[in-house]
Amino acid sequence: MICVSLGRTRHKMMIAEHQSLAQRGAELVELRLDFLSHLPDLTRLLKERPTPVIVTCRRSQDKGLWKGGEDQRQTLLRAAIISEVEYVDLEEDTARKIPRYGKTKRIVSHHDFEETPRDLEAIHARLCKLDPDVVKIVTMAHTPADSVRMLKLVKEAKVPTVGFCMGEFGGFSRILCGKYGAPFSYATFKKERQMAPGQFTFEEMQRIFRYDQIGPETEVFGVLGDPVGHSLSPLIHNAAFKSLGMNKVYVPFRVPRDQLVFTLDQFKWLGVKGYSVTIPHKEAVVSQAQNFDGPVEQIGAANTLYQDADRQWWASNSDYDAALQSLALAGVDENGKVPTPEEFLTGKKVLVLGCGGVARAVGMGVINCGGALTLTNRTHARAVELAKHLGCQQVTWENRGSQYADVLINCTSVGMHPGVNESPFAENWLREGMVVFDTIYNPEQTLFLKQAKQRGCKTVSGVEMFVRQAAVQFQKFTGQPAPLEIMQRKLRRVISAVTVKDEDDEQPGTQVAKT
Ligand code: NAP
Repeated sequence: MICVSLGRTRHKMMIAEHQSLAQRGAELVELRLDFLSHLPDLTRLLKERPTPVIVTCRRSQDKGLWKGGEDQRQTLLRAAIISEVEYVDLEEDTARKIPRYGKTKRIVSHHDFEETPRDLEAIHARLCKLDPDVVKIVTMAHTPADSVRMLKLVKEAKVPTVGFCMGEFGGFSRILCGKYGAPFSYATFKKERQMAPGQFTFEEMQRIFRYDQIGPETEVFGVLGDPVGHSLSPLIHNAAFKSLGMNKVYVPFRVPRDQLVFTLDQFKWLGVKGYSVTIPHKEAVVSQAQNFDGPVEQIGAANTLYQDADRQWWASNSDYDAALQSLALAGVDENGKVPTPEEFLTGKKVLVLGCGGVARAVGMGVINCGGALTLTNRTHARAVELAKHLGCQQVTWENRGSQYADVLINCTSVGMHPGVNESPFAENWLREGMVVFDTIYNPEQTLFLKQAKQRGCKTVSGVEMFVRQAAVQFQKFTGQPAPLEIMQRKLRRVISAVTVKDEDDEQPGTQVAKT
């Protein structure tokens, strides 16, 4: 069950939002009395409540907004109990002073906004002695391992325990606590009104992560990166799981660069079956696999880690496969037949713009499929180094031109949202009949692609590649073909929503992460 926390300054708004949440399917709502600017009127708030509630009133020492006296606060909590609210939230010291009465269930809570303390288990044991129906323990995670510790505690607890971590290292514990027996997790009414760092919205918990369907048997997948906050991968992988009725969930795992090996070891306890891997772990993750699927070692980077039936870990690079599959779309014939990447690329001159991670995988694919590759990069030394590694030619950024290209591929970030008015290649260098592929997927129609279309080039967008790299991962994760169209539709809908929202917010700088 998801409990949605509601905090408004006016009773009228709190009641209206409570109604709206009930209509949207909320089954439990926390009324944060400390947010109200006037003395809380419990009769008004509770009279026709559309869902069961938790009544909570936090003092400033607990990072709440209550400005009245302590006696007054305790009187309110007692009054809530007498009114037979379903739950009342009592901090450790308050729980000692307010005894059980009637049917109201007691949530005995502890919050630590600074850290996940060493004596977490001892604190939990103390809370268990205060006659709780539910223990709530919420701490700040400074590492992913803090969240794993918390989930272990939830699993081993004898008293039903809502336990998760705050902050970006704690997000996955909010989603996975239900798997380990937490009776509910918390969500916020909407993003702008987060009550604790890292909180997801009700919509996200319900629609993306399908929290209520998560149980002990749910298999866990996720994206490893830093940052991962804006990753679109949870959206499309979870949409794919949902469409096929799979008992699987895909979560964001923010893991700092220097903690990859330790964290993967900690995550063994979670039983994660597969990871997408993004910046900054694509190179380091290669050494964490026992087996390689495709030219991972040649590329020197992987974006997928998955376990086979014998629990062996495999690394693969689905950017490589996806870029080749996407490129081949440009060679479709009048009967709709798409050539193989080899058929499409053999004997063609290919110019790759950029020499970062994606260019490495794309360049390797072009060479392996028989294309004649030329590299170019703003920082020339990187082009020289990569050309040496791949055994191809390079030109300086200033001298890049269409003489090197039947096929032109943008692997730079030039043109990506919000820099949508930029292109990595001069319009008048584009020639009719050229194939132009932009790996950028946000926006889908970059300036580069728009100009290429106007000049009569065949174009392929980064959405084709993004969705295919996810589809290749899905197949490795589940052993089943991915629902490509569903993933594609989801991605396009989200990209257009992000673009529209950012334009509305007028916040240049908001970017969508890569994986
Ligand atoms: P990366 O490793 O950080 O490389 C970025 C590349 O862009 C470098 O070659 C860099 O050149 C170049 N660059 C950045 N700003 C530039 C500028 N103002 N002018 C010229 N060149 C510039 O990133 P990556 O992981 O390879 O990702 C590159 C692009 O691929 C991203 O834009 C992303 O949208 C796209 N991508 C697409 C997919 C997909 O599935 N469709 C997946 C992943 C990534 P320097 O070496 O000079 O810095």
